[in-house]
Amino acid sequence: MSNIAVEPEFEQAYQELALTLENSSLFKKFPKYRTALKVVSIPERVIQFRVVWEDDTGKLQVNHGYRVQFNSALGPYKGGLRLHPTVNLSILKFLGFEQIFKNALTGLMMGGGKGGSDFDPKGKTDSEIRRFCFSFMRELSRHIGADTDVPAGDIGVGSREIGYLFGAYRRDRNKFEGVLTGKGLTWGGSLIRPEATGYGLVYYVEHMIAYANAGSFEGKRVAISGSGNVAQYAALKCIELGATVVSLSDSRGALIAVGDKGVTVEDIEAIMELKVNRQALADFPAQENLKYIDGVRPWEHVGNVDIALPSATQNEVSKEEALALVAGGTKFIAEGSNMGCTLEAIEVFENERREKGADAIWYAPGKAANCGGVAVSGLEMSQNSQRLAWASETVDDKLKAIMKTAFTLGLDTAKEYVEAAEGELPSLVAGSNIAGFVKVAQAM
Ligand code: GLU
Repeated sequence: MSNIAVEPEFEQAYQELALTLENSSLFKKFPKYRTALKVVSIPERVIQFRVVWEDDTGKLQVNHGYRVQFNSALGPYKGGLRLHPTVNLSILKFLGFEQIFKNALTGLMMGGGKGGSDFDPKGKTDSEIRRFCFSFMRELSRHIGADTDVPAGDIGVGSREIGYLFGAYRRDRNKFEGVLTGKGLTWGGSLIRPEATGYGLVYYVEHMIAYANAGSFEGKRVAISGSGNVAQYAALKCIELGATVVSLSDSRGALIAVGDKGVTVEDIEAIMELKVNRQALADFPAQENLKYIDGVRPWEHVGNVDIALPSATQNEVSKEEALALVAGGTKFIAEGSNMGCTLEAIEVFENERREKGADAIWYAPGKAANCGGVAVSGLEMSQNSQRLAWASETVDDKLKAIMKTAFTLGLDTAKEYVEAAEGELPSLVAGSNIAGFVKVAQAM
């Protein structure tokens, strides 16, 4: 793309968007949008800083800190903070880039950004995490604000970390404002924010199922990867709607259902407890309905499933795994994670969709299917600005409406700009990319 350092994850996210725009009629109809693509692919600002913190033995430790303020055409930069040893600028640029279009699809006024650090929360004590967060915020607090940039959680950052960061911001800037989302309920958080990404993902898939005339979640087998916030609440919602959840996973291995019972609500509650204590699924006590397989992802181990919801991290479905899902009769795949599928895996799903008509597997990209999390973050910002707290039903109803809009917008935009054969399901990846992009390009 240019003379910048090699950034494989960002290149992939850029290619995924650019190819769908290129293969649609958008640039033919409106050549000006080509320039908009060039402009939108460069962050407005990247902040890189040093985070020095003291561990429990009194030794100084140092990590890289980042905030990518990618695009503010639609509102304050908005997007999570990721704490994971793999974090680098390429990963944060890919996440920030995706976030721009995801946020546009929610219909709320939010720009796109992402940040984080290569700090590894695993094996750290609460005090070490708190000292890290305080030090991280000491620098970050100069660059953010309720009307400037509003970070939230992502991998490795839950409400405990948001609490440490919010406390540090209040102390450093002497301001109580909605500068972070995902806050606790007693200090400005929103009801349904913890559930929002997982619930929103399931609401989105409900629209896919209805459009494809395939019944409902009731009686369907659902494979889920991950065991963090997104996977937990997606699994609970699937169970509530009468589906059987046949897998969960973490970076070390997968839990696969044995027999017909699937993962139970009690299993998920126990896993929530495990994850708060930063333990691995390998430590989950043996159950007769679940077996743990070390070193694998679920997709080639779940047998026949109707729905697959990758909800762990980027590139967690390879071409081979995509083929295994197709062979297992999967009808719907929707990403709870950001860029959960590799470009090759998406190609497998999109080819199937084009070749097999209405019976094909139907793929929904994360920027549409998982936008419920950031959408409720947007609703948390609204509540903070009003200095009000809305009831749980109010937030859940708004979340449902936003997921419906995100689905319909992707679908209708695909019908408008992408050629399709009679009976073919519209491409949700192309439709969502074009819809999000056009909105941002017009605002720019
Ligand atoms: N990290 C989440 C995402 O990828 C949420 C971001 C937010 O709430 O700002 O969309």
